[in-house]
Amino acid sequence: MIFLNFPEAVGRIIQTMNYTGQHRQSSMPPTLSLLIPMYNEADNVRTCYDSLCRVLDPLQETWEMICINDGSRDDTLASLLALHREDPRVVVLDLSRNFGKEAALTAGLDQARGNAVIPMDADLQDPPELIPQMLARWREGHDVVLAIRSDRSRDSLFKRCSARLFYRFINGMSTVPIPADAGDFRLLSRAAVDALKQLPERRRFMKGLFAWVGFPTAEVHYERQARLAGNSKFNAWRLWNFALEGITSFSHIPLKMASYLGLLVSFFAFLYAIKIVVDTLVYGNPVKGYPSLMVAILFFSGVQLVALGIIGEYLGRLYEESKQRPVYLIRRRYGPPGDPS
Ligand code: UDP
Ligand code: MG
Repeated sequence: MIFLNFPEAVGRIIQTMNYTGQHRQSSMPPTLSLLIPMYNEADNVRTCYDSLCRVLDPLQETWEMICINDGSRDDTLASLLALHREDPRVVVLDLSRNFGKEAALTAGLDQARGNAVIPMDADLQDPPELIPQMLARWREGHDVVLAIRSDRSRDSLFKRCSARLFYRFINGMSTVPIPADAGDFRLLSRAAVDALKQLPERRRFMKGLFAWVGFPTAEVHYERQARLAGNSKFNAWRLWNFALEGITSFSHIPLKMASYLGLLVSFFAFLYAIKIVVDTLVYGNPVKGYPSLMVAILFFSGVQLVALGIIGEYLGRLYEESKQRPVYLIRRRYGPPGDPS
């Protein structure tokens, strides 16, 4: 005969209630919270939910699927609400407008109740089949389990090249190493999530923040699939701004580069000045004129504007931070019945 202590027995009873097909949500925190930011993903909502159920229900774990509707202009919200009515484990956060994926993820992290939290995309590019492995590594005692993309051949050539360049660049500059080929798809323990929630910055480059909090980390590997339906929301311009966000959030080296470049240029200008004086006074050559002067003026004006631009990037971010506006606004939360929030 097996003897359970009281809280264990209550936990078992509630768990059993949750697996009887009624999908009743207890007020106890679930084991796992899935965070899924969605921007115009109406075509993916149902398939994403079905795939998660197929993987998670046999595991006998309690879970919630927190879907963040990031100001979608299609039927994403309606599809999510239909799911929520069917299964209260689907929690819907409806943001007041499109705040961007990083803000949507932050909203999800703030609301997640699980002992382990996994952010993932709605387009099934992050395969749910990996979740049991991630949970197993977490149970071994790792607070963070990174899902590393070992094969990205289904991503476009542009995306692969720009990603490689970006990680090389940022890891050359940043004080915390940001793991290459790891997206936001990872498992975070409750301790790691609580640590992330302490970071007060408003401009949130999540990959960097995840790396910054540290904690014992394990890896699992997977092949990146093609997007299920719809197009990527990150075009070249958005990716460029995302890269700038990452670099300015995690490194001051561009600011230093401007001053070192200035010093270097001044040094060469000084040598050139000596050459002109010697040319004129010793060899009696006439000073050569207009074209070289124009080139020098234009070149150094360009360098100065670039340096000002770099300072501007940091100053603009400082200005944004100083306003202290919230990272996101929730229009309405559709949670489990009886949920206090
Ligand atoms: N996303 C979002 N807000 C945005 C852009 C994207 O919530 O402003 C979501 C999107 O719906 C998806 C995830 O972020 O679930 C990743 O986006 P996407 O698949 O377009 O990016 P990629 O996989 O191409 O990098
Ligand atoms: Mg995707």
